[in-house]
Amino acid sequence: MKIPFCLPHIGDEEIQEVVSAIKSNWLSKGPKTLEFEGEFAKFVGVSHAVGLNSCTAGLHLAQLAIGIGPGDEVITSPYTFVATANTILHCGATPVFVDIDPLTLNLSPELIEQAITPRTKAIIPVHFAGYPCEMDRIVDIARHYHLSIIEDAAHAVYTRYRERNIGSIGDITCFSFYATKNLTTGEGGMVTTSDEELAARIRMLSLHGMSKNAWNRYAEKGTWYYEVEHAGYKYNMTDVQAAFGLLQLQKLEAMQQRRAQIAALYTSILSECEGVVLPYDSAEHRHAWHLYSIRIDPERLAISREAFITKLSAVGVGTSVHFIPIPHHPHYKRLGYNLHEYPQTRKVYEGTISLPLYPGLTDDQVAYVAAAVCDIASRHRK
Ligand SMILES: *Cc1c(COP(=O)(O)O)cnc(C)c1O
Repeated sequence: MKIPFCLPHIGDEEIQEVVSAIKSNWLSKGPKTLEFEGEFAKFVGVSHAVGLNSCTAGLHLAQLAIGIGPGDEVITSPYTFVATANTILHCGATPVFVDIDPLTLNLSPELIEQAITPRTKAIIPVHFAGYPCEMDRIVDIARHYHLSIIEDAAHAVYTRYRERNIGSIGDITCFSFYATKNLTTGEGGMVTTSDEELAARIRMLSLHGMSKNAWNRYAEKGTWYYEVEHAGYKYNMTDVQAAFGLLQLQKLEAMQQRRAQIAALYTSILSECEGVVLPYDSAEHRHAWHLYSIRIDPERLAISREAFITKLSAVGVGTSVHFIPIPHHPHYKRLGYNLHEYPQTRKVYEGTISLPLYPGLTDDQVAYVAAAVCDIASRHRK
């Protein structure tokens, strides 16, 4: 059996929608983007959504919109994709990493408070794998110290924190529609906020800093005149992406049901498997199951993560590692960061393996992957 780590879940409906978007002759940001923004805002339960070409663009513009710049510090997790930290650097600010909770793999609220200085401007919680951060605690801390919250919800398009959807809690939330994400438009992203001014600023900065409705300047009812208010960026979504996204949004509930089933099946088989630590979940929240990351327990198994991955690959199972911690990357090492200052992140990273998880997997494939994991583990028990 050959089971790739990741496969997008795209039907003929999406293909037809994309074709009709192309045939409509409106290729860039236009009516479909506005429709997708409206539907997405409704889905999240928030007043504003702005379509962008990536989550990275969203993280960058979110920070610019709240005024983060040189001299400022932004607190985030070291256990994330590098976009979270790179965009802090793009603003000229300094990333301040706080270690993760080894259970949830999300940044530890206790450590956030210790990391706050007079220069701290914002916190960027990352909802790892789609399991939400401790938002009540983080909101309390942010209120107390007058900090903004920008959520990296690249994994959390379906996540609920208690009764609230992710996207309706922080000042600004950034979603990713990258090829591997739970909802994809190939490349794409969305930011949500309940603050009209922040939404307007992000919209303006996403299109060269041009004045409102400049996207419509080539339409029949549009006008050629616009004014540039800021040296903005080219980060807008296109109608081809939005047409794709609208269809994916319609299917999201069904895709998420399947993800949850697969995660439950993995858990039921792997919980019998000694030496393998399973991902955390709790009935209090709704997990989006973007990733199913297991951890090899070095106390109980005498096999390295690398050897484990090689053995899985030999039996046809594709895997990945989420994430290479930010302080491990050469650029960040040169800036003076050191992974040894984040012992929990380091420990989790050294043993972690992400298993295939996407709606197209069959129960047989999931059982095959889980059996392969158990088999390797049982051969390497200490
Ligand atoms: C995928 C990802 C991003 C970046 O998303 P893009 O849409 O590719 O820019 C940011 N943060 C995390 C945690 C991610 O996994």
